[in-house]
Amino acid sequence: MPKPEVMDRTAGFFKKNLETMLHKKRIEYHSQKLRGIVQYAYKNSLAFKNKMDSAGLKPKDIQTIKDLEKIPITKKTELMELQKKNPPFGGFEGVPITEMRRIFISPGPLYEPGEADYSELGWAQGMYAGGFRPGDITINTFSYHMVPFALQMVDNSLHMIGCISIPMGVGNTEQQVHILKDFKATGYCGTPSFLLNIAEKAEEMGLNLKKDLNLRVAFVAAEMLPESLRSKLEEKFGMVMRQAYGTADIRCLGYECLKKNGMHVPDDKIVEIVDPNTGKQLGPGKTGEIVATTFDKVYPLIRFGTGDLSILTETPCPCGRTSPRLVKILGRVDQATKVRGLFVHPGQVNEVVSRYPQIANYQLVLKRKEDKDEMMLRVELKEEVSQPEKLGHEIEQSIRDVMKIRGDVEFVSNGVIPEGAKKIEDQRTWE
Ligand SMILES: [Zn+2]
Repeated sequence: MPKPEVMDRTAGFFKKNLETMLHKKRIEYHSQKLRGIVQYAYKNSLAFKNKMDSAGLKPKDIQTIKDLEKIPITKKTELMELQKKNPPFGGFEGVPITEMRRIFISPGPLYEPGEADYSELGWAQGMYAGGFRPGDITINTFSYHMVPFALQMVDNSLHMIGCISIPMGVGNTEQQVHILKDFKATGYCGTPSFLLNIAEKAEEMGLNLKKDLNLRVAFVAAEMLPESLRSKLEEKFGMVMRQAYGTADIRCLGYECLKKNGMHVPDDKIVEIVDPNTGKQLGPGKTGEIVATTFDKVYPLIRFGTGDLSILTETPCPCGRTSPRLVKILGRVDQATKVRGLFVHPGQVNEVVSRYPQIANYQLVLKRKEDKDEMMLRVELKEEVSQPEKLGHEIEQSIRDVMKIRGDVEFVSNGVIPEGAKKIEDQRTWE
């Protein structure tokens, strides 16, 4: 086995034939998988059968990804209600409980059928794409207790690649540092903020993160990853950090490759971006709710609404993977506002503003003029700039890049935006 220092972490694929499928082939592959799981779930999952029956649908009505629109979206709240009515799993399980290897419990409580044999691809694809290779000794610092992520998903995925897992779980920061050092561990799985805790503890213990520790790759999830925190940690340890996104119920829905170019959708999921009000699919480049379908027979969730907002892109990625990508997670559906038919989220406004260190305070104001939505970003600057007009145009361009709609910038004096003001102020009236 090559030494972690010399192995090539940049090339190759975890499942090349799937990850490099051409667009047309991928559509065929997904449609075929979809027909299979719909047939299976209709026969074996009571909740899914009820859902189809109440919408007047039979399995033969679902042939393509477009047909998915006919099936009502299942939200987490509905899962919980149905679990109460029909315990323990609300009829969403696709195999008898005696065939499950594990059962998990997430806050709610929400009961999750675990797995029979773990075969989920996404997290392992993500780790590999992010530089993990066979032989990486890895501390897994996600929680092993009740919830599925650490034990079922991360641990199994490390094993699928050929990495060695040290099941540390959360906390015990000082011990985490000792373990990293004693085993010359090369991999980290956990939240970015916990890795920051580990870094601070190690420095406090007098260690040089680059010389005394050996971390090369970090796989992070479960919280937002600010770019500033990523580069700080990558620099401190001299390693690469990549993130992935998913939920406890439907698992991995996106992972970053080394090109850091959005999150590739794993090949064993169908991800739609939909209008949360109508459930209709939105094309690439539009902001909407992430709705996902898995082909997993133990827990066959079909059209599960995550409540998260994102944008899908199908532009080619230089890494060679051909799957569509989630541009980034923009925030929760219930915080979003619709402007000229498109969703605008506080997270997007924040992303625009974070590109300009000159900005002290800001507020996005929505108005209605002659039956049209107007969007204005009010900006307070830290200090006067020499060419405010130029800066204004640059910010307006960033608004177009990030939010995909046009908005104007207005510079206001310091203190004009009240303290604690809403980041999106909707002043539109509709009479
Ligand atoms: Zn890529």
